[in-house]
Amino acid sequence: MLYAQVVLPLAQPPYTFSLDEGLAVSVGDAVVVQFGSSRYYTGIVWSITEEKPDYPRIKPILSKLYSKPLLNSTMQRLWEWVADYYICSLGEVMRVALPSLSKPSATSLTELTERSITPPTERYLTLCPDLQSEATLADYHTKYGRRAPRRCATLDAIAALAVAQGGLGVAVPRRLVDVESEHILSLEKQGLITSEWRTVERHSWGVDGANNTPDTFLLPTLSAAQNTALEGIRAAHERGQAALLHGVTGSGKTEIYIHLIAEHLAAGRDVLMLVPEIVITSQLVERLERIFEGRTTTYHSRLTPLRRGETFLRLALASGGELIVGVRSSIFLPMQNLGLIIVDEEHDANYKQSDMAPRYNARDGAVYIGHMCGARVVLGSATPSLESYMNALSGKYVYVELTERWGDGVLPEVVVSDTIRAVKRGERRTHFNLDLLNDIARTLAQGDQAILFQNRRGYAPYIQCRTCGYSPRCPRCNVTLTKHKSSSRMECHYCGYNTPVPSVCPNCDIQDMSLMGFGTEKVVEEISRLFPSARVDRLDGDTSTSESAFKRIVHRFERCETDILVGTQIVTKGFDFKGVTTVGILNADNLLSTPDFRASERAFQLMMQVAGRAGRHNNRGRVMIQTSQPQHPVIRDVATGDYRAMALRELAERRAFGYPPYSRLVRILIRQQDYNLLRHAAHRTAEMLRTRFGGAVMGPVASALEMLRGEYRAEILIKVETTMPMRDARRHIREVMGAIDKCKEYRAVHFDIDVDAL
Ligand code: ADP
Ligand code: ZN
Repeated sequence: MLYAQVVLPLAQPPYTFSLDEGLAVSVGDAVVVQFGSSRYYTGIVWSITEEKPDYPRIKPILSKLYSKPLLNSTMQRLWEWVADYYICSLGEVMRVALPSLSKPSATSLTELTERSITPPTERYLTLCPDLQSEATLADYHTKYGRRAPRRCATLDAIAALAVAQGGLGVAVPRRLVDVESEHILSLEKQGLITSEWRTVERHSWGVDGANNTPDTFLLPTLSAAQNTALEGIRAAHERGQAALLHGVTGSGKTEIYIHLIAEHLAAGRDVLMLVPEIVITSQLVERLERIFEGRTTTYHSRLTPLRRGETFLRLALASGGELIVGVRSSIFLPMQNLGLIIVDEEHDANYKQSDMAPRYNARDGAVYIGHMCGARVVLGSATPSLESYMNALSGKYVYVELTERWGDGVLPEVVVSDTIRAVKRGERRTHFNLDLLNDIARTLAQGDQAILFQNRRGYAPYIQCRTCGYSPRCPRCNVTLTKHKSSSRMECHYCGYNTPVPSVCPNCDIQDMSLMGFGTEKVVEEISRLFPSARVDRLDGDTSTSESAFKRIVHRFERCETDILVGTQIVTKGFDFKGVTTVGILNADNLLSTPDFRASERAFQLMMQVAGRAGRHNNRGRVMIQTSQPQHPVIRDVATGDYRAMALRELAERRAFGYPPYSRLVRILIRQQDYNLLRHAAHRTAEMLRTRFGGAVMGPVASALEMLRGEYRAEILIKVETTMPMRDARRHIREVMGAIDKCKEYRAVHFDIDVDAL
């Protein structure tokens, strides 16, 4: 009799099941098992042994789901690493890696079968039969060459490609014809060409793969600087090292990625490109889909679990020469022949899953996968995380730099506008300094566009009674409620609780409530009043609740149907808007003053990223930062665009205080509705941790969010010094938490462990 350890999507260690003879099951297979008396789960076979476990009733594996294992050995190692490093169970890893198989029901299984998998397709174009001879093609030219030169040029291009492949009647891949989709569509409508979707031939990526003709793609020509950077990355890869591509905004990092991707795809290898958020990177995704048509798959949480499951299954069964563009969870996709992993905007906090286990960082996971399977790794950013920058300084990564914008592009001029001085001189109107208003006026007069960045959504971040100072707070989260104009209610930004704005102070009964601070909604109102003829739009969490709403706003701005775009940090992300010449950062103070050791790094990243949206084409951009601390070192670094100065100063400070990257931070969040029970459990845990870590344990303290959704929250922070191996630290934490788990009185207390917490 054989026994299998099976990982189930539960926060538990693997369970043992027996393997009936006749059922050929191997490691990595997805299988169905019965759990409890009536629940059925899909699980993953982790290991197989002959040793009989010593509990009495062992249930059999009921069936095997697919013809091939879902997990290869690299993926198995990755799951193990995530579970071990981030202190969670394999079952919790399974939940993020295989969301479609994580429900305790059999329905998803019947739906997700091998037969339901649709292979990738790409579009092919053929000249219409009338044009499939040199003579008719020449005739067409004489007739229309003058009136429709563009049309003729495209037909010529298609003809040339067709001839190169055997004759005018041959279908050619759409991706090799360098014109936009509307143009192709109009040729089709006029009956000049026909198009069809064809299944993409898989590379037989086995031993030789020699019978495949390499794929060709239309690649951008690189500048000298881009070529040097590309060479630098290749050299790093040849030495087996990851490359950190530090390229200023608009330097053309994407074009370098495209060249690298093409090389790997043409060789029949898979490429994984990680992006922080799929909708926000839609411009980039559309571009990649054009170039690598039929070879590009996107993977993100907006897809249904079934769609994600289908992609997973398809890759597990056969892959080779595919580009996956996905969010953090796509590191768990089972590519068979992974050649390259790109982590775009590697500094982005979205790569870290913080809200639930596994609290993993996909950037670090990518580097780990690279180690495991020999895939090349590129981390790219205009503002690298200090962790990655330090790895570059220490020689673990190879540092590759692009210091200038592509083409004639110049980095924007950054101007600091002192709010306090403006107030003193009477040069402030509502929340704008005259400097900025003058800039906006000039921008509008020139027919250009402006972006205004304010890191708060809603109308007024809090409401205060001017008599007694009382501010209404969320009864479940204890944070101030934000006034929303559109709904005339105040809302909790953590749990969504909302209630009408009181006209009378609930505390002192005096009618003196006033709106404090300003959010994006208010900015829109004020700027519209100041520039009545400007078309103003807003991009934040409230206006982009759906993908289509988000895209509508972005497309309007792209087509210059909007003059001023007001937004939260969404507007800082990777956009390439051609008409933007002015960027206003309305309140840099609230970026600098968050109580977090990463505040300076984050503020620098945010400001540099939003500044990077200005003047990306032709016109030089201008960035105006409104702040009451013009002398703040971070403001000065943003003004001079000096990443290195910021990084070295911050690193020195981190070293002095023992913060990452000079230590590892483990945060233990403790949650409970009963405040006394919480306090008790937190103190007991901290005490036990101190016996192992001594002075490296800080807390417990109340979390920044003391209460959330009706639960009190406390946290303990462990600064694991570099002198203690992480392996030992994790063992200590696991042992302490194991002991706490056994305490009956803490049964109802939640402990969330976050390794390398952000
Ligand atoms: P980054 O990602 O580094 O901010 P992008 O890759 O978005 O920069 O490039 C900025 C702009 O410059 C884009 O509009 C891009 O199309 C253009 N660009 C960059 N490199 C090239 C190139 N080699 N050929 C043509 N256009 C380029
Ligand atoms: Zn709340």
